[in-house]
Amino acid sequence: MEKNKTKAHSVYVSEEEKTLNWEEIQSSFQKTFGSEIYNSWLQKLTLIKEFNDYLILGVPTRFFRDWIVSRYLDKILEQVKSFKLSLNRIEFKIIEENKQNQEIIKYNELNKVTEIKDSILNYNRLNPKLNFDNFIQGKSNDIALSYSKKVCEDISRYNPLYLCGGVGLGKTHLLNAIGLELQDNNNVMFISAERFMYHFIKSIKKNDMVNFKDFFRKSSVFIIDDIQFISGKDSLQEEFFHTFNSLMDKGSQIIISSDRTPMKLDRVQDRIKSRLAGGLVVDIETPDLELKIKIIRKKLEEIQSQFKENIQLSDEVINYVANESKTNIRELIGILNRVVAFSRVNNKELSINDCKNILKDVFSQIRVITVDKIQNVVSNYFNISLSEMLSQRRSRPLARPRQVAMYLAKKMTSRSLPEIGRRFANRDHTTVIHAVKTITRLSEQDDEMKKNLNQIKSILLDQ
Ligand code: ADP
Ligand code: MG
Repeated sequence: MEKNKTKAHSVYVSEEEKTLNWEEIQSSFQKTFGSEIYNSWLQKLTLIKEFNDYLILGVPTRFFRDWIVSRYLDKILEQVKSFKLSLNRIEFKIIEENKQNQEIIKYNELNKVTEIKDSILNYNRLNPKLNFDNFIQGKSNDIALSYSKKVCEDISRYNPLYLCGGVGLGKTHLLNAIGLELQDNNNVMFISAERFMYHFIKSIKKNDMVNFKDFFRKSSVFIIDDIQFISGKDSLQEEFFHTFNSLMDKGSQIIISSDRTPMKLDRVQDRIKSRLAGGLVVDIETPDLELKIKIIRKKLEEIQSQFKENIQLSDEVINYVANESKTNIRELIGILNRVVAFSRVNNKELSINDCKNILKDVFSQIRVITVDKIQNVVSNYFNISLSEMLSQRRSRPLARPRQVAMYLAKKMTSRSLPEIGRRFANRDHTTVIHAVKTITRLSEQDDEMKKNLNQIKSILLDQ
């Protein structure tokens, strides 16, 4: 068996494989979400970096990020997936508005460096967060998990290892974990079938099939995700078949994932199906309640340590969330993120009713919070008129509500400090900063203020 003992490369996207046109995606957001939501939120998203399976998007504030995650993330992902099927995740990076351009330039420069350093394709994209340590074992996945680990100890004993299961059940996570485990001592290739096709077509166009063949056939561990994608694509199947055979011949380990068993693959040549089924086929089933609860608890721990914040969900709420998501762990995590974002914004322990409200058809319940709305709600709440709130008078019964409104405008909208200042009768941004500081301090020290803020927020969120 050939093994590459030097530190191997794992594969992925090089800069020249960038495929997304962000402007095009933005205009699709505008159509799907409507102008109001688009202008308030989505327009502010910037594309920082593109990987084969995920994107890093820039957001101006943490609140903004939470808001987007809790309300629009699923739909954004769905939308970008329609431009690039292999995407399955979006990460956010908080970048102050005036630094956004610099940040994008910085990333692009980094890209260039890696591009020069590594030849085409040698771009490490194994996600370090998807490892064995944070893959939670349950009845539905323990066979898949234990064989994934065995493959790492005993290369080419189970060959190919074929993991199958529905969407969002952890296939990519396991493949990635295997890749991480083996990458130090092997030449690991980790690619989705869709990307495989991308390279295939590109090589045909460039008349460079020799390199393509060499490249894929030199790996000692070949991991291919979502093989069902080759369905109906005959020339791709042909190429895959040859790659597969050549890798098997030299004793490379092959690991494959799919949403169905080999024999159920549609429009795939029989000889390929039988080769795929020739090793070990293991199923990942839908998670039971116990596993879902374990995953929620683990994710909560991760969020706590990531944000250094104490987020508590009662057992009742955890159970509720676990039951809400019937079959899919990705969806379970999506729901949990929404619930956590809400609890952070509102700073309170959630009841089942809160959860129901949060999850009640999230997209049809979209509420956009604007500075105008905040000014109206706050002035009403404190029983002063809008013109009093915006006036230059400094008496405390007017100044406090004004500061509260500025504070909320900063926390709950994506407006910048100068913009908020302008909306408050052309005040300077330093006045807004002062208001935010004052109210932040009071909200920590003064119970009355804390209560007021919570009530105002829930009015805003309920409207
Ligand atoms: P698939 O490839 O089967 O569609 P993924 O591997 O992308 O699913 O999993 C979806 C999400 O659920 C990922 O965020 C993954 O980390 C998470 N996940 C799935 N199964 C588990 C598990 N057993 N423990 C922890 N996280 C999991
Ligand atoms: Mg997957």
